[in-house]
Amino acid sequence: MPVNAGKFRERLEALRAETQAAIENAKSSTRPVELDQTMVGRVSRIDAIQQQEMALASERRRHAELQKIEAALARIESGDYGYCAACDEEIAEKRLELDPTAMACIKCASGKKGG
Ligand SMILES: [Zn+2]
Repeated sequence: MPVNAGKFRERLEALRAETQAAIENAKSSTRPVELDQTMVGRVSRIDAIQQQEMALASERRRHAELQKIEAALARIESGDYGYCAACDEEIAEKRLELDPTAMACIKCASGKKGG
């Protein structure tokens, strides 16, 4: 393993706990919109629906993030952590410090470069 996986494991585990807590938090605030026709006007109903859609979008983002974190932790277990999933080169440690869930080296992540 090219990098100090223990250090990144700690960060990833903290990140996972944070993300899971955020998901739990969000659950209580993403109840279905109640369409109370007598109390809520049409505009604020649309508003509420839009807010719910935004909440759902960030929930999806959090779940995707959680999956990336789990995948990174699994790769620490299997010894693949720190290697690019695309080209098998080592991922720069600086890049992993910025994003410990990064699965590709900067070259592959930024798309094809030259030849
Ligand atoms: Zn690569």
